[in-house]
Amino acid sequence: MPSNFLAIGECMVEMAPTGGGTFAKGFAGDTLNTAWYVRKSLSQDWTVSYLTAVGNDQISEEMIAFLDGAGLATDHIQRLNNRTIGLYLIQLKEGERSFAYWRSQSAARCLADDAVALSTAMDTAGLIYFSGITLGILSPEGRQTFLSSLAAARQKGARAAFDPNLRPRLWEDAQTMRDCVTEAAGLCDFVMPSFEDEEAHFGDKTPSESADRYLAAGAKMIVVKNGPQEVIVATENDRRSFRPDPVRNVVDTTAAGDSFNAAFLAEYLVSGDVDASVAAGARLAGTVIQHRGALVDLSSGLVA
Ligand code: ADP
Repeated sequence: MPSNFLAIGECMVEMAPTGGGTFAKGFAGDTLNTAWYVRKSLSQDWTVSYLTAVGNDQISEEMIAFLDGAGLATDHIQRLNNRTIGLYLIQLKEGERSFAYWRSQSAARCLADDAVALSTAMDTAGLIYFSGITLGILSPEGRQTFLSSLAAARQKGARAAFDPNLRPRLWEDAQTMRDCVTEAAGLCDFVMPSFEDEEAHFGDKTPSESADRYLAAGAKMIVVKNGPQEVIVATENDRRSFRPDPVRNVVDTTAAGDSFNAAFLAEYLVSGDVDASVAAGARLAGTVIQHRGALVDLSSGLVA
């Protein structure tokens, strides 16, 4: 398998309040968060690439410079003349965070419009990582291009990992979301949902039910996260559960699932050991939630 981890999706400008009406500018997005942590977790023998679409303007260049600076390969990023990148603002009300988005015309929505460019990137990947947000932002035609390119890349030996990250507001309607997510999951080696989303949008009663549903769709290994509760890992022939070490000082759960996925996959790609992979995922996510923000600097050696 080529040592190339390819994450595909949307990275946005993040404006985070710093008090007194001022904001700090950053860059984040679910698949980018995962790619960022994968880059920190895998050795330099691996290339970690991020595929998205951006504009030809200054803020798009700044984002690419940020990705380059994080050690991510940016050669598959498409540049579009008539669009720019999306933005979200974190707003605080009585200590509670909420998000306002400006992304309806973002360049990333066109990332599957060039089928040849998409297939070229996917065909050289060892592992392709994407999410329900990656699919949700695309047009119906873009989704079909994405899924057929993915199926073709898998025929050529690539593996695929998918976090359903169910966000109904990105989709025309909830049934379209459920159908497309189920179809995508059926093409994947790893499906990594969070039970809270699955319960809300598929009506699953237990994490095991979510695992069964994705196995029935055709996925090979399901890793169901559930906040502080047990992580379930299920394949056709095996089912295990692991309780993450308790974290008492939870500061901000942003990117808990994204960082879990990163450390799980980085470990699994190297060792193929499920227990060690869940432990790595839970350890990284447990660290990330003790800090503010999605991208936590772990240079103090907290990552395996
Ligand atoms: P998401 O961010 O997708 O909602 P989850 O909340 O399910 O993801 O959490 C992902 C992982 O983060 C969990 O499997 C667990 O390992 C870790 N985690 C999240 N919340 C806690 C917590 N309160 N205590 C310990 N670990 C947690």
